[in-house]
Amino acid sequence: MSNPKTALVIGTGLGGLATGLRLASKGYAVEFVEKYHSPGGRLNLLEKDGFSFDMGPSFFSMSYEFKEFFDYCGVKNPLELKELNPLYAVYFGDRKNPFLIYKDLQKLAKEFDGIEPDLASKVEKYLATAGKLFHDTEDIVIRKNFKSKLDYLLQLTRVPVKHGPKMFRSMWSELENNFDSQEVKVIFSLVSFFLGSTPFQTPAVYSLLNYTELKHDGYWNVEGGMYKITEALVTLLKERGAVFHYNTEISSLESGNGRVTAAISKDGRRFTADKIICNGDAAAFRGKILNREKFNRVKLDKMEWTLAPFTIYLGVNKKLEKLYHHNYFLGNNFKEYADSIFRTSVSPKKPYYYVNVRSRSNVNSAPEGCDSLFILCPVPDLRFKADWSDAEELADTIVDDMSSRIGYDIRKNTLTRTILTPKDWEEKFNLYQGSGLGLAHGLNQIGGFRPSNKDEEFNNLYYVGASTVPGTGLPIVIISSKLTTERILSDDGSL
Ligand SMILES: Cc1cc2nc3c(=O)[nH]c(=O)nc-3n(C[C@H](O)[C@H](O)[C@H](O)COP(=O)(O)OP(=O)(O)OC[C@H]3O[C@@H](n4cnc5c(N)ncnc54)[C@H](O)[C@@H]3O)c2cc1C
Repeated sequence: MSNPKTALVIGTGLGGLATGLRLASKGYAVEFVEKYHSPGGRLNLLEKDGFSFDMGPSFFSMSYEFKEFFDYCGVKNPLELKELNPLYAVYFGDRKNPFLIYKDLQKLAKEFDGIEPDLASKVEKYLATAGKLFHDTEDIVIRKNFKSKLDYLLQLTRVPVKHGPKMFRSMWSELENNFDSQEVKVIFSLVSFFLGSTPFQTPAVYSLLNYTELKHDGYWNVEGGMYKITEALVTLLKERGAVFHYNTEISSLESGNGRVTAAISKDGRRFTADKIICNGDAAAFRGKILNREKFNRVKLDKMEWTLAPFTIYLGVNKKLEKLYHHNYFLGNNFKEYADSIFRTSVSPKKPYYYVNVRSRSNVNSAPEGCDSLFILCPVPDLRFKADWSDAEELADTIVDDMSSRIGYDIRKNTLTRTILTPKDWEEKFNLYQGSGLGLAHGLNQIGGFRPSNKDEEFNNLYYVGASTVPGTGLPIVIISSKLTTERILSDDGSL
């Protein structure tokens, strides 16, 4: 039998692991090098004082991408997925009770009784157009490799022209055309922050995300916590002979004849393979490791990046019944807040934040009678706020705000607390300037305009993950792993 082809994956984030498993299922021998001490990248686990927390992602949409992935690899889906119902709860500054957001439109309409008349029929109409846009573009823009920018632009001509105006108006004006109340508009516009912008700048095409959350597939969690995804992939990879090296950061590449011949770690070890797949940030890697002019520090800093995470992991001595799996805490100054949040150097005095209660759906995450809370406050990245010496103060502000809104003194009843600032996120996982979701998704940074998953110079170097195509978020990164695998197999002549 001839020797198998070999692949070296730099990084064990979801993108790296999923590409590794796809390649292993096609007969590749796969090896991983990872900077951090454990696998998962942003999809990681924090265990402390009897509590466990998912470090980053706490839910996902488009669950069918995981099914497609396991089918592709020829394995039974090892994950038990749980749909969130309600999808999430939204607390506004001056309201005692949260709005519960349901996929069931009659139930949703009841939440907005007296606030947004005829909500069910308005949402039905809004989602019908958003749904058409989603299905008309997913195979053209999301699930496709592009040979060049021109190829991408040519593909775009296949999108029905009726969707064109959505490229030129903002998501907020699209919502204003469909809804009357500030509350509904704010809630439906929250998805724009996942893309790295505000609803006032995000093009209306992204209303398709409302379709994916509210109609198409909803939001999902994994039984046992999100880290089960990482654990399952590592187990499947090890069963297929994959080798993992942790605490191993690649700091340079050797090359010759248009190929990468070795990846060199900070401590001087050489790793070789037929194919090299970079799961680190596709833009920053080209700049920092490959010294490409187009991605030098100045140019990277001029790109649009998603907000940085300020995260708090709390073990609390009580079950906080007022919290759902997934909660947003918002103020009453949405536009002003959205406009300032990306570029300020001061921590917000009245922050907007998101809270996930892992122990709500996964009881083993906290000792009996306790809750494990993950709080995410999106903040400016390190370009705008480099000094995080006020981290404890910001955490106290957030915890006290939540305490007053749910009527329980959380600070006094905290059993364990860990804070990660954008600086920590940068240091742990090489997230550029601490940006949480990678490159933003404005029209000039998607499709053929996003850093490609195939290197421009080395014909055996590929990229996978949030900052290459199609973009960020767990299901989208699963699609990224498919696109990268297809590139590799096509270059091999085996596709
Ligand atoms: C706080 C937070 C909350 C989020 N919540 C959600 C959510 O609820 N739902 C959702 O769908 N998405 C969410 N996301 C986004 C999601 O986590 C990412 O889109 C996804 O995990 C990215 O996976 P990846 O494989 O591209 O990269 P990563 O997870 O960043 O993995 C890349 C890996 O490469 C390693 N690496 C980098 N450079 C090198 C090097 N030179 N040498 C060796 N190793 C290297 C890193 O250490 C890392 O382990 C969240 C992100 C954050 C930060």
